[in-house]
Amino acid sequence: TQTTQKWLQNYVDDWVNFYQKNTNEGEVASYIPILQEANQQHLGISILGINGMEIRSGNVEIPFTIQSISKVFTFIVACIQRGVSYVLSKVDVEPTGGAFNSIMHLETRQVKKPFNPLVNAGAITITSMLIGDTAERKLEGFYQLLEKILGYRPPLNIDVYQSENESSVRNRAIGYYLLEMGYLESELDLTLETYFKQCSIEITIDDLARLGMILANDGEDPSTQEEIIPRQVARLAKVLMLTCGMYDASGKFAAYVGIPAKSGVSGGIVAVAPPRARDHQLPFLDGCGIGVYGPALDKQGNSIAGIRLLRHIANQWDLSIF
Ligand code: GLU
Repeated sequence: TQTTQKWLQNYVDDWVNFYQKNTNEGEVASYIPILQEANQQHLGISILGINGMEIRSGNVEIPFTIQSISKVFTFIVACIQRGVSYVLSKVDVEPTGGAFNSIMHLETRQVKKPFNPLVNAGAITITSMLIGDTAERKLEGFYQLLEKILGYRPPLNIDVYQSENESSVRNRAIGYYLLEMGYLESELDLTLETYFKQCSIEITIDDLARLGMILANDGEDPSTQEEIIPRQVARLAKVLMLTCGMYDASGKFAAYVGIPAKSGVSGGIVAVAPPRARDHQLPFLDGCGIGVYGPALDKQGNSIAGIRLLRHIANQWDLSIF
């Protein structure tokens, strides 16, 4: 096992160095002004096996805000608090093929609910369903879930929250549209405050690897056998990640990488490689969570170097679920 770990570590180090060259391509997100302060050159990966094996490489210590990755977990919390069938009666599970903050898709839709919980319209609707009458109370279940998985409560980055709140014209427009349609279950300002705060929670790639690993293990903590996320909800979360998790490049990500993943505009990606039924090339890593950070984004809003690194590793290690 130790030799395998060493071999995997060297392998990942080599490819992080290789793909670091790609960080010159793309751009750091700028529509939330403070996100521009990120260092375009950064690239890091953290891999955590269900069996506990850990491989970390590159810029692993950099904290960044969770952004859209939070949408997977507020969806999970809403399902736990309100029940799966109720949540799915309010938000659909269809990919849009469009931008994450599209209004057009909402307006032209025949079915009267937002497309899915991972685009902004669906995510804001999900946030409105969280129980509580202040943003802090609404986020309590989310924090508890994170704390249960990570072992600590990740901090809110107040500067990012303020920057996001001040530059939130599009999200407010989406919010007003949701309000007009009667989709929101809590008052608009409270819902948006909660949504901006959930996006501004600061985490690391180690945290993402752990979150991904729990999903890879169907919601169960492998060391305690405790069910942290009901299996059915964990499965739904992975379906959403696979079909809608990488913005309007989700189809290509499924085709070329083949594992559930969710990205965010600060450059993070959480990916989930579930254990495989048939013999696996790398039994020591059969089932893992992967966290990636690389703030230079492509036009769809995904980390360029991060996706290439994930694609390379997933192909070499045959991680595709298909
Ligand atoms: N806070 C961001 C927004 O809604 C999340 C964007 C993202 O990571 O996709 O604009």
